[in-house]
Amino acid sequence: MTAGLVYDPIYLEHDTGDHVENPGRLVAAMSHLKETRIKERLISLPARPATPEELEMIHAPEYVSHIKSKAEEGGGWLDPDTVMSRKSYEAAIYAAGGLMVAVEEVTKREVDSAFALVRPPGHHATRDRAMGFCIFNNVAIAAELALRKFNLNRVLIADFDVHHGNGTQDAFYADPKVLYFSTHQYPFYPGTGRMDEIGMGEGEGTTVNFPMAAGWGDEEYLRAFNEVLVPVARRFEPELILVSAGFDPHWADQLAMMRMTVTGFVQMAVILKELAAELCQGRLVFTLEGGYNLRVVASSIKAIFDVLLGNSEIEDPLGKASMASKTGGFEEHIEAIKRIHHVS
Ligand SMILES: [Zn+2]
Repeated sequence: MTAGLVYDPIYLEHDTGDHVENPGRLVAAMSHLKETRIKERLISLPARPATPEELEMIHAPEYVSHIKSKAEEGGGWLDPDTVMSRKSYEAAIYAAGGLMVAVEEVTKREVDSAFALVRPPGHHATRDRAMGFCIFNNVAIAAELALRKFNLNRVLIADFDVHHGNGTQDAFYADPKVLYFSTHQYPFYPGTGRMDEIGMGEGEGTTVNFPMAAGWGDEEYLRAFNEVLVPVARRFEPELILVSAGFDPHWADQLAMMRMTVTGFVQMAVILKELAAELCQGRLVFTLEGGYNLRVVASSIKAIFDVLLGNSEIEDPLGKASMASKTGGFEEHIEAIKRIHHVS
């Protein structure tokens, strides 16, 4: 099995100062891939910049030019959480373009699967607004590229970042060609992602939200994947699976309150890989969203590459949380979501 790695040093030039979403995340991830020598087994895919026309598949032209001119002026704050520097426009177009390269290579079967280690992340960015550390919605742009350039008819986006991907949901809320599935802490930033947000018009039913109560962990996430994601994906029959991979549901992450482990991320990646093999000739592309504990980010990315390469012994250097996980109310909760989406 071959796995592609998208990375470019330009991603470090998106300078956010002492912000939690900073270049250190990718520095830690890349050094861990080198130290563990797994990097030698990956196929490096060179990133390219997305063109304005490609960005405009998802974003308003005025928004794209606003970000470009803001960078030329030296950067600054775009919203209370999201800051940019002089090189952020360039980093952001290479982030969207890097994920597009991964989608192109996987769709053409040049590699079996790929993981794009990009920043800034994307899933909160809307048509005309940067938010939640995100500037351009990388995964939404890549999904749209797959539909338009490769004439795919159905793309699944699975988003396990701890935050709801409001921007991705918005982009495809009325679009039956993209199934958006998200697990996320709720209530939590950005406030969207209730289970009754299911899409509208022709897209009704192709948005699947699985909100999670603070304190839930691997067991609840894996049940959400096995009992909701797997049946809705089989019904939808995607031709490509994109994954918004955020490692902030981990117990050691400082921004959220979930209790996942690296082993839990591995098990989710195995489910996604098996779904891709069963439904779409293995076409599977991961992209980095959040995750702010550097050890968690580095070891989880390495572990997912182990899954993509078919390795069986996978390390979880952080282990389980010492605090007990809170599981009350899950049965009623998952039953309600299954009823909404007609899965038994
Ligand atoms: Zn997040």
